[in-house]
Amino acid sequence: MYGILTLSLKVTNWCDLNCAHCCECSGRNNPTNFIPLTRIEQYIHEFQEVPFNLSPHYTIGGGESLAPYQFGNSEYIPQVLSCIYKVGGIPTIKTNGVWGKRYDMRSDTLKSLAKSAYMGDKLLTLDISVDEFHNNLDGVANIMTDVVQSDYLLSAIRICLLGFNTPGTQKAMMALRAKLSDREIYCEDLPNGDMGVYCTNNRGMRVIVDDVVDVYDLGRAKDNKVYTVCYNTDATYVNCLQIDNNNLAILNYIYSEQIAGRSLTRVMQSLLSKQK
Ligand code: SF4
Repeated sequence: MYGILTLSLKVTNWCDLNCAHCCECSGRNNPTNFIPLTRIEQYIHEFQEVPFNLSPHYTIGGGESLAPYQFGNSEYIPQVLSCIYKVGGIPTIKTNGVWGKRYDMRSDTLKSLAKSAYMGDKLLTLDISVDEFHNNLDGVANIMTDVVQSDYLLSAIRICLLGFNTPGTQKAMMALRAKLSDREIYCEDLPNGDMGVYCTNNRGMRVIVDDVVDVYDLGRAKDNKVYTVCYNTDATYVNCLQIDNNNLAILNYIYSEQIAGRSLTRVMQSLLSKQK
């Protein structure tokens, strides 16, 4: 295998949206359970032993990865982040941003995430899907506004907006930009694509800082044009080992294996033999 390997923890299949197109097999009717913290710790520990060029970038996804906050569990995500920070990892959280519609949820969640980022001494990235399928523009605009307007949040959290390469996504991005400009928050295009935005306020601060070097297409992107990001790396190919809350390991969104009590090194060997 060439390139680098990232670890993605798909912590739940529960999601407060029920998108018809969902390629994560997630939605409101899925169980509200999450990968137990002891297993998260074990996976991250075992990942360090996998004999590949490991990326320091870790992804927390779902379902709605920040759902624990909605269920009153404000410790789960900070604990996952702590496990990542302990191994020198740099976390990205994928979220639909719908929680941004509610002031109390938004305020508590952003403060909690920022606190974790300060404790880990590394920026925390929120990847938020903005496209024609998600009814989340108000939530996303609120999250971005809060982050831009708070030095405390802005120094800890950056936001990356991602979507499909479709006219519907372009329209959603334009609508979001209009909402933000009503709040005197202005956007400009990313130099490397038309789906992201830089967002600046009148103090010239950036929500998306300019060390985002590229938008990579991982395995899944080749199939359905879902994009993900990787920061600060010269690697030409980014592989993704995803682990879900049913003990399933998936390489590059294609090859899957039940972990079945094996170490991640053994599981990777097995997955790679399928890839050949
Ligand atoms: S927001 Fe994402 S994870 Fe949730 S149902 Fe929609 S596509 Fe699936």
